Amino acid sequence: MMNQQIYASIITIGDELLIGQTIDTNSAWMAQELNKIGVWVKRRVAVGDKREDIWQALDEESEHAQIILLTGGLGPTADDITKPLLCDYFGGKMIMDENVLQHVTAIFRKLNRPMIDRNIKQAEVPDVCTVLMNKRGTAPGMLFRKGNCIYVSMPGVPHEMKGLMQDKVLPLLQKDFHLPFILHRTLLTAGVGESFLADKINEWEIALPAHIKLAYLPNYGMVRLRLTSTGNDEKKLSQELDEQFTELQQQVAEHMVINEDITLEEALGKLLLSKNQTMATAESCSGGYIAHLLTSIPGSSVYFKGTVVAYAYDVKEDVLGVNHETLEVKGAVSEETVREMLTGLLNTTTADYGIATSGVMGPGGGTTDKPVGTVWVAVGTREKAIAKKLYFRFDRLKNIELTAAHAMLLLYRFIKGDNLN
Ligand code: AMP
Ligand code: MG
Repeated sequence: MMNQQIYASIITIGDELLIGQTIDTNSAWMAQELNKIGVWVKRRVAVGDKREDIWQALDEESEHAQIILLTGGLGPTADDITKPLLCDYFGGKMIMDENVLQHVTAIFRKLNRPMIDRNIKQAEVPDVCTVLMNKRGTAPGMLFRKGNCIYVSMPGVPHEMKGLMQDKVLPLLQKDFHLPFILHRTLLTAGVGESFLADKINEWEIALPAHIKLAYLPNYGMVRLRLTSTGNDEKKLSQELDEQFTELQQQVAEHMVINEDITLEEALGKLLLSKNQTMATAESCSGGYIAHLLTSIPGSSVYFKGTVVAYAYDVKEDVLGVNHETLEVKGAVSEETVREMLTGLLNTTTADYGIATSGVMGPGGGTTDKPVGTVWVAVGTREKAIAKKLYFRFDRLKNIELTAAHAMLLLYRFIKGDNLN
């Protein structure tokens, strides 16, 4: 028999979320983590720092979920009202928690800062909660139980919330509830749209058992296909999911890039590591963004040599050795320029592979033959390189992201030996 589905609601608190000053990244992250342990997030609600609204959200969400997670409103300033409100809501009174006080005092001592009343108040908690120590900050997490629901209040600071979730909340939920297993298998395709893929795998998709779902996740002009299976017998689920995943991989083989749920920069890194080879970038229109993505991965220094952000003509000429005539005659956004940038890059570094980019990112600067969104990318080695013209139709930042994704995809496929014509 299938376990009963456990539902969660996430309430994020703060005026800054409602006016769009802070983007609510907390609930997205929490939802992902809850999903991994088999808890389904039924609703996500954002409310301001307003007593009636938070109160009402607590009442309403308890009708939809057994687990209610709250973030925000725990700071030491007057705008943060969550703690006294929770104290009233759960019918308690505020008391000083000696452990939290010691922890807060130690933090201030370490920072060599004076502690004022407001900071001491951070150690006060409702006497009806279980305190969850927050190693990363001064505001403790608080757990309440009422009816069939568990409520956990955490600070809004993402780094602190994550620490509490990982150390305390997720293990506690796994112990408290009998949760089903949720398993995923993901692959990345490129070159075709989701409708095309949907048509291609239609027969297989409709024959999937009810507990296995397929999701199409398009992004950057590529499509991720994710299979999700839910149930109680992990071994059986896993085996069955692997069989379906193998079948899916066969059906989309010619469009598949990676059969793992990783980013392109991770995939590129893994591939280079496995070959014990290195790369570098010469970036004009992407402005170092490819290098940023690659260097965001821990351990990338093993395979990533560096970047030249060659934005102006003179840097393309002086640092990368691009011919002045090439720039004058063919233009900075041309096949010839990116090829010369690549050659220059590989001549000035010891990298085995390189990527070169040059394009018109917008909103201005477009011409009839090179409209905004036109990008040339070259990838290759000292012996062999290929160049491709791409076209993107979004705003400047999105065009930069798309350039980076497609340039990395091109190099990935080049190294793999795919036919890129
Ligand atoms: P608070 O606990 O309300 O004092 O929030 C502390 C900090 O965390 C503020 O700088 C907020 O902008 C940030 N923050 C609060 N809620 C969220 C959220 N849902 N997602 C991301 N950041 C948040
Ligand atoms: Mg706040």
